[in-house]
Amino acid sequence: MPATATLDRLPTETMLDDVAAIAAGQLAPRVRDIDGGAYPEDIMRALGAAGAYGAHVGPEPRLADTIEAISTVAEHCISTAFCMWCQNALGWYIASSDTPHLAGLAGQVASGAVLGGTGLSNPMKTFFGIEKMRLRGTRVDGGYTVKGALPWVSNVGEDGYFGIVFDTGTDAPRPVMAVAACAQDGVKTVLDHAFVAMGGTATRAVQFRDAFIPDEMVLADPIDGYLQRIRPGFVLMQCGMAIGMIRSSIALMRQVQGPLGHVNKYLEEQPEEFEAILTRAEAELADLARTPYDTSIPYFRRVVSLRLAGGEAAMKAAHAAMLHQGARGYVSSGAAQRRLREAYFIGIVTPATKQLRKMLAELPQT
Ligand SMILES: Cc1cc2nc3c(=O)[nH]c(=O)nc-3n(C[C@H](O)[C@H](O)[C@H](O)COP(=O)(O)OP(=O)(O)OC[C@H]3O[C@@H](n4cnc5c(N)ncnc54)[C@H](O)[C@@H]3O)c2cc1C
Repeated sequence: MPATATLDRLPTETMLDDVAAIAAGQLAPRVRDIDGGAYPEDIMRALGAAGAYGAHVGPEPRLADTIEAISTVAEHCISTAFCMWCQNALGWYIASSDTPHLAGLAGQVASGAVLGGTGLSNPMKTFFGIEKMRLRGTRVDGGYTVKGALPWVSNVGEDGYFGIVFDTGTDAPRPVMAVAACAQDGVKTVLDHAFVAMGGTATRAVQFRDAFIPDEMVLADPIDGYLQRIRPGFVLMQCGMAIGMIRSSIALMRQVQGPLGHVNKYLEEQPEEFEAILTRAEAELADLARTPYDTSIPYFRRVVSLRLAGGEAAMKAAHAAMLHQGARGYVSSGAAQRRLREAYFIGIVTPATKQLRKMLAELPQT
């Protein structure tokens, strides 16, 4: 797919079938290497060429298809599914902003010609009173200079792009959202693989040393209003990781029913329980994905509740799969132990389980 691809030239009809073929054919044989730290750049680009990053940002956005593509990949590998989410989040930010300057970058992100991500964990925690903003912006001629550091930004190479938020306020917070480039002056990145899972996510620590962010790269100044528009899509797309994890955990439980069913039937958690949860979650997700730009609080509460329930069910299902698989899952090549390590990421990536619970406790009911 050439870098000049426009959004409406991306494949649409066959996207989900093509993603399923890439997941089963190219991704499945490589999941252990990815778990060990190998970033699947070729697969990320193939998914882009198949249209996996274009469904939610085209002329007729189809967020449900984007989420289903993430779910399909998550059935095999949460590292790759998370990288898809990062890429899709960056595309979502640009598509949801009014700026015309970033149309070229939008097409390159949608096609996978440019790979990128999002450094929004810190601001998302800041907006809900959990931590302080790590990036500080100062107004200069034609843009801002930005200082500070982000501990982790995934799916970025040395030439990657990612969404950032920096505070420009003096007396009161005044956050501004923009796109930054790893390769630009004043930005330094270092790869970080020191995780129990998710090694293949090309996760980098990023430092800003008076990096110049021109006005053309600004998405929302200030962020008010725009944040409310992007946050449901941001959270809903993460549900794909949970759906894929639940599906694969059910499959792992079913896989050993023949040899171990006579004893596994005494376990408290059975696949039927997770099949019922999955059916309910998929229906709610399909409904919520129809109106991602709904900025009402009751809608956002439903989004947050689904993300919380999905993450908790994913961790529970992966735990149950481990017990059903027994020693088969406990060996270093076992799928169940890798899936269990990956499942915890769904519970700790922002918004983490604890943040989702805080949000539900504090968001108004109406
Ligand atoms: C593999 C991976 C990929 C990630 N990718 C991204 C990304 O692409 N973009 C993004 O914005 N965020 C990313 N994150 C961050 C992630 O979204 C969460 O913010 C993070 O996991 C912590 O979330 P939490 O709410 O559980 O916070 P907590 O872990 O409860 O608290 C976070 C705070 O703890 C502190 N802290 C963190 N690590 C340590 C440590 N080792 N020792 C002491 N203190 C520490 C930090 O100051 C941080 O402010 C990634 C994290 C991981 C593990």
